[in-house]
Amino acid sequence: MVVVMKAGATPRQIEGVVAAIREFGFSAHVSEGLERTVIGVVGSASGRDEVMQAMLALDAVDRVVPVGAPYKLASRVHQSARTRVQIGPNCVFGGETFAVIAGPCSVEDEEQIVRTAVAVREAGATALRGGAYKPRTSPYSFQGLQAEGLRMLAAAREASGLPVVTELLDPRHIEIVDAYADMFQIGARNMQNFELLKEVGRSHKPVLLKRGMSATIDEWLMAAEYVLSEGNAQVVLCERGIRTYEPGTRFTLDLSAVALAQQLTHLPVIVDPSQAAGRANLVAPLARAACALGADGLIVEVHPDPPHARSDAQQQLRFDQFSEMMQDVARIAAIAQRQPT
Ligand code: PEP
Ligand code: MN
Repeated sequence: MVVVMKAGATPRQIEGVVAAIREFGFSAHVSEGLERTVIGVVGSASGRDEVMQAMLALDAVDRVVPVGAPYKLASRVHQSARTRVQIGPNCVFGGETFAVIAGPCSVEDEEQIVRTAVAVREAGATALRGGAYKPRTSPYSFQGLQAEGLRMLAAAREASGLPVVTELLDPRHIEIVDAYADMFQIGARNMQNFELLKEVGRSHKPVLLKRGMSATIDEWLMAAEYVLSEGNAQVVLCERGIRTYEPGTRFTLDLSAVALAQQLTHLPVIVDPSQAAGRANLVAPLARAACALGADGLIVEVHPDPPHARSDAQQQLRFDQFSEMMQDVARIAAIAQRQPT
């Protein structure tokens, strides 16, 4: 960050600022201009906020300008090599392959999740999704089968060989979800549930971190920083649409954020076209666009009988629709220099 002094700040005041910066363990680089002096503050990321607050409290300081990204471990400056996250024998994010997670919005019964797992694997998916704990807008809507749903997911993994990705809503779920899942999903509504982020950060299991529906890219990467800073480096980011003024789609898929996030961070970035579109007939076009853009993969909702689904009925694909989408995506993946998995 750079501290800009007020015009007319005295040498004593400047010295006072320099001393204060050093007290926080940072070094200070003073440049005297014709009208004002600016002081560069250089040092590690921790304690930045405290220095900034302390500087703003000083009379002779006009303003403090942050320079560089507020996140550190998630930044490409910190690590230039792309992170690879592997959750199963054939499911790698951030490598040469385009990874596809597929399955129902919610686990509804064992037959539903097992049938779907086998069908999506046949179509080329390499991981299974299914919500056991569901974050619903209404408390009267289906909340998920919870522990029973987790057991059904394990049965589906057994039947299909696919690793399981499932959401947890609360730090109290970590133990049980950890026992069944191969990857924790942090949903859009919990992107800034900092206690939950810290909890999955302390585990050794890969984390799928959805972007909050009203979160900036910086806020999203700061959320990833919470997980990384607790020692878990296995984070995959997921763009799932943001809230805009457009009512024609459920959310607006922010593909620019995918391309930008891939420049800003070494973490893999995948796309959820299902939550974004909110309608089944837009899922395949968005999936194709995400693949062409160079996203690292997809998470797609697929259900044996979408009209009767207990959550997100309008946006889930039938098996035949998913299979067709996967064929198109495979062709695009080949052009985007990614092998379809
Ligand atoms: C979901 O994947 O079913 C879900 C609730 O996603 P999001 O958190 O992106 O809304
Ligand atoms: Mn859903």
